Amino acid sequence: MPESPPIVIRSAANDEIKALRSLDSKKGRVEQNAFLSEGLRHVVEAVRRGWRVRRLVLSESAGTSPLLREAVEGCRSGGGRVLTVTDELMTRIARRDNAQSVLAVIEQRWAGPDLVRAEPGITWLALEGVRDPGNLGSILRSADAFGVAGVLLVGNTVDPYSTEAVRASMGSIVNVPLIRLDEAGFLEWHRGWRGRTVGTHLRAEGRPETLVRGPATLLLMGNEQSGLPEAIAATCDALVRIPMRKGADSLNLAAATAIMLYAVAAQADA
Ligand code: SAM
Repeated sequence: MPESPPIVIRSAANDEIKALRSLDSKKGRVEQNAFLSEGLRHVVEAVRRGWRVRRLVLSESAGTSPLLREAVEGCRSGGGRVLTVTDELMTRIARRDNAQSVLAVIEQRWAGPDLVRAEPGITWLALEGVRDPGNLGSILRSADAFGVAGVLLVGNTVDPYSTEAVRASMGSIVNVPLIRLDEAGFLEWHRGWRGRTVGTHLRAEGRPETLVRGPATLLLMGNEQSGLPEAIAATCDALVRIPMRKGADSLNLAAATAIMLYAVAAQADA
């Protein structure tokens, strides 16, 4: 039997739409344990990686394609629902012009610190107190590109599932396991960490290019305003600084993280 045409939601007062729009706030995301992902390519990536898509939202002009069918099947097979909305309503949900024609409500995932293993050659990244969601998303994108095993978010770090962070991650949010720890939890967990810990510090003497290949690495990056707190810096086996011209203040956190991840990936043999 042919499928009947979808019912098109036109009103922002519709309960489904209200729930979707509340994902713009941290409160809404925590209550629903979900986040918004925009764009067909990113939604299909999430489906392929086994993430649960609770709602797939299509604008009237979304058309049809094999990728779209894959997204629809992925959503429905996980018990999710497919909604169709007007193009105008899609713009309101995404809160920007030129909204994507596909977006999804995806269930959040958090891993526990027991996931972190000190296997040789593997890199884990720990970020302390990141404030800027754009920085965090860019860092997740770099972490994914450099094959980082997972990211520890330490202390009071901005929500990686905020729409701005998810956008800046360009889909990488579904490829990088995330672990949350407060500072005390990190310090306790770190006592059992068997790899090496490399921290970044603007007053460090060490240079990233002197790192040698081999051990599992935990790379620690500090907060945008104040850098790594002393207690966390004290857990490091090595503190390094990316050389800058004399008088330069510092690098942007996301830029520094990308350079450090490259330096760790390109380490010299011992
Ligand atoms: N005023 C802060 C301080 O004194 O540490 C600046 C923090 S900086 C904007 C934020 C983070 O980016 C730092 O904690 C460090 O992880 C990283 N970072 C920035 N510039 C760096 C550099 N030249 N070498 C290594 N890490 C750097």
